[in-house]
Amino acid sequence: MKIDNKKLFVTVFSVMFLSLFCVGCSVNPVTGEEQFLIISPETEKEMGKEYSKEVEKELGESLQDVQLQNYVDSVGQKIARVCHSPEIGFSYKAIDHNSVNAFALPGGYIYVTTGMLKALNNESQLAAILGHETAHVTARHIAQQITMDFLIGIGISVASSHASSSTMRVADIVRQLEGMSFSRKHERQADTVGLDYLVKAGYSANGMVETMEILQKQSTYRPIEFFSTHPSPENRIGYIRESIYNNGYGTSGKVGSSEYAANITERLKIIKSRQ
Ligand SMILES: [Zn+2]
Repeated sequence: MKIDNKKLFVTVFSVMFLSLFCVGCSVNPVTGEEQFLIISPETEKEMGKEYSKEVEKELGESLQDVQLQNYVDSVGQKIARVCHSPEIGFSYKAIDHNSVNAFALPGGYIYVTTGMLKALNNESQLAAILGHETAHVTARHIAQQITMDFLIGIGISVASSHASSSTMRVADIVRQLEGMSFSRKHERQADTVGLDYLVKAGYSANGMVETMEILQKQSTYRPIEFFSTHPSPENRIGYIRESIYNNGYGTSGKVGSSEYAANITERLKIIKSRQ
């Protein structure tokens, strides 16, 4: 039988293209727009699960304080309940690192550093940080970044090292996250969507503004995620205030200064004295 190479090529190409197109197309839960992504939420979860083990092994051991960790997670869960995709199953943990930082792994594993916790001074500010990171996950910024890197041929190791990730050191993960910085457009979206979550969770919208003011003073640090490609803090404060005004967000929601002091500031002192 003679095989028509041209026809075969066209058929194979069409099947590949169609399968890519159909399998990869999904509606973004935040924007409602259709987009092409090479990674499913299930794969993201699997990846995050592997990385989270490494991150927690390296940076979490020294912070096994039930009260502090429960508090961070309880604030995060208030955000997760009102976000676009609560079914992802979010977890929020503190890790022991001096940088003023917070980041999200694929699949909803969100971390805030002790450096950041020390810089903040009330619960609404913590909720603002966790809201921003949650928005990166729900708006599928991580999946978009992985797709983009894959398509432009960097062959991102985050996607390809899935099998060998158990041997990956946290330094590699951190380096990859750094390389995987989000675009300014995504950062701005994470700020405004995060602000929306903050208010819906019952917090004062001021928490987001105060957080930006605090971060503005932290210029001596160079955190992994929170500064790399972010718009300048003055800029961020401007459009956050605008969003508060345009949406009519109130500032009468929860602030939580005493709760934060008891569950974070005091606990950090106790943990330090134990070490
Ligand atoms: Zn961000």
